[in-house]
Amino acid sequence: MGLEPGTTRVYRCAVCGADTPHRICHRKDDRYAIACTNCHGGALVGGNELLLYQVKWEEELRQILEQLADAEEDDKPRT
Ligand SMILES: [Zn+2]
Repeated sequence: MGLEPGTTRVYRCAVCGADTPHRICHRKDDRYAIACTNCHGGALVGGNELLLYQVKWEEELRQILEQLADAEEDDKPRT
């Protein structure tokens, strides 16, 4: 699963409102106690929520990087 205590997952922090890495502090069944690495705000989330958010975030990041790569292509002088 890769949701071991001590690892971090990107999640929307309810306290500072940003997508930040959250350290997984504690696991009980499929509930995870996580703490924002930015403001140290805590949250309790389900394992699926955590994994889905990570996948969604990585997909968004991939799209952003692709758009940046495309923009760089356009900047190159035409030969
Ligand atoms: Zn936070």
